[in-house]
Amino acid sequence: IKISKSYKLASRDFHPEDTVIDIKGVRIGGDNLVIMGGPCAVESAAQIDEIARLVKAAGGQVLRGGAFKPRTGPYSFQGVGVEGLQMMREAGEKHGLLTITEVMTPEYVDICAEHADILQVGTRNMQNFDLLRKLGTIQTPVLLKRGFSSTYDEFLNAAEYILAGGNPNVMLCERGIRTFETYTRNTLDLSAIPVLQGLSHLPVISDPSHGTGRRELVEPMAKASVAAGANGLIIEMHTDPDNSMTGDGVQSLFPDQFAGLLKDLERLAPIV
Ligand code: PEP
Ligand code: MN
Repeated sequence: IKISKSYKLASRDFHPEDTVIDIKGVRIGGDNLVIMGGPCAVESAAQIDEIARLVKAAGGQVLRGGAFKPRTGPYSFQGVGVEGLQMMREAGEKHGLLTITEVMTPEYVDICAEHADILQVGTRNMQNFDLLRKLGTIQTPVLLKRGFSSTYDEFLNAAEYILAGGNPNVMLCERGIRTFETYTRNTLDLSAIPVLQGLSHLPVISDPSHGTGRRELVEPMAKASVAAGANGLIIEMHTDPDNSMTGDGVQSLFPDQFAGLLKDLERLAPIV
């Protein structure tokens, strides 16, 4: 395949070995499989504490949860904001989990980095170049989600912005792309996993929750992602998905499904 390769630091030609990002002893990349789980949005201290307990008990290493939510419509719940960062941090510390949360604007990067171990750039912000440039000025690991209509080349160039700024701690996340199919919310592009790992040394994480938008498809696509070589998974899980504050309850696993999936995954690849 012909690829323009306008990126350099993200390229495997430039950096032949897999990048492994070590966060407080949790190694992301290489032969490790990292599991990130939690609600779409932080809703309350009690909610995130209980979900953190369940993520840890199931064998996950990272607690996910958005304090700032990039909603399609301006009247939808936008997240609890800065207080949510504090709630996430407390839950993560209490249960021995790393935390990941989304940052949407350059102005909020520092405060999010003070509270979370990993900063997520959402699909809608993959080409928010001011945000990417700001993330390049810190060392906090970044999980960069693929824009839902972005090519691999555009995706790797977005990663390049962060790397070029001086932050080498970038992981790529395939979260589904827009296709003509409407049964699923997005089409999880499984090919992206081996293709990105060939083109780049950066860890590749799969998001089967946003990648399908349907709870019953999360488990098979999580397993397929691991079989395709993903370095980790980010999965939505909620104790009461039907009453979740974002529309993502329909794709959130129940806690017992999440635990069952992790058990099955242990047979495919050890979670370390
Ligand atoms: C999320 O992780 O809840 C989210 C909003 O993801 P994406 O940016 O992939 O839609
Ligand atoms: Mn979500």
